[in-house]
Amino acid sequence: MPYYKDAFGNASSIHEVGRIARKGIDEARVKAASLLGAKDADEIVFTGSGTEADNFAVKGAADALKSKGNHIITSSIEHHAILSTVKFLEKNGCKATYLPVDKFGLVDRNALKKAITDKTILVSIMYANNEMGTIQAVKELASVAKERGVLFHTDAVQAAGKLPIDVSELGVDMLSVSAHKIYGPKGVGALYVKKGVKLTPLLHGGYHEKNRRAGTENVAGIVGFGKAAELAAKNMNKDIIYIKSLRDRLQKGILNSIKYTYINGHPENRLCNTVNISFEYLEGESIILNLDMEGVGVSTGSACTSGSLEPSHVLTAMGIDAVKTQGSIRFSLGKGNTREDIDYVVKVLPPIIERLRKMSPLYKG
Ligand code: PLP
Repeated sequence: MPYYKDAFGNASSIHEVGRIARKGIDEARVKAASLLGAKDADEIVFTGSGTEADNFAVKGAADALKSKGNHIITSSIEHHAILSTVKFLEKNGCKATYLPVDKFGLVDRNALKKAITDKTILVSIMYANNEMGTIQAVKELASVAKERGVLFHTDAVQAAGKLPIDVSELGVDMLSVSAHKIYGPKGVGALYVKKGVKLTPLLHGGYHEKNRRAGTENVAGIVGFGKAAELAAKNMNKDIIYIKSLRDRLQKGILNSIKYTYINGHPENRLCNTVNISFEYLEGESIILNLDMEGVGVSTGSACTSGSLEPSHVLTAMGIDAVKTQGSIRFSLGKGNTREDIDYVVKVLPPIIERLRKMSPLYKG
């Protein structure tokens, strides 16, 4: 709040209120770098969202490396911030490979190895999936890219704060994060860009962010991101244990009380807060609406595609058949949830499912 009020200065101004704002940004950069294990705070570029960080990584690398090649490798289960960006680049002369995943949503290291050509300039594979939470073996995948001298980016928007991240240990060149996924403000993201990696900026103008992202900085948002990063680093281990215990309780409660339900995603290598469940014979939307009336907020697929009736591209890529994909719901828990919340959902959900199934022409009891 102080950065909206007394410390309202433009961080590029050299007068006192400007210097206070600059200090706020500098401190936030150190905190964000520390959450990600970046050695140098200057490796963090603040952006306006996780989407922008993803766009910057992919478009920035494609343009900067166009004399070397035009081939990008990604996976078929990425968030649309990556998929739509790669599709856009394909219209503009790039070639793309969308790696398949197995039934748990994992990318195969050998498939990546085979897909790399002399023209490959970038591999972008997400750290953890937003719809069903599967965590990729990013370290192994990054090492495959490294062996061939290809840049490796990972979208860690869902992973940050829910998994310890160390960019050096992972061996990635770029990594995207977003403040609102770690209890920070919306509309702020960051891209970790390893020292020495050159990207063409998306935005041209002033010399902000060391000439990598023009535009007056969202000081309050960035400071909020920094605070969220500091708290995430401090509380992560205990938050993970707590949220996972709630997640497991929810999962068990639902599977034990409702027939024809299936967990989507990896049984173990999965984010602590995510459980994606298919309720056979149903439409996810009707479950969402009925749960909403009971005061429970859940989603199908990603919030960014909630207006679409298309089946989830993630579950489809995992080979899950359309009937199960249609009735899938994503429960995302946070540190604000309690055991009482879980027990409430486990109590209100079975009658909803029973009622909806009775109305379903597919359900024969
Ligand atoms: N990548 C993943 C995996 C996400 O889950 C999201 C948002 O949900 C994004 C990117 C986009 O981040 P933002 O909402 O900050 O644009």
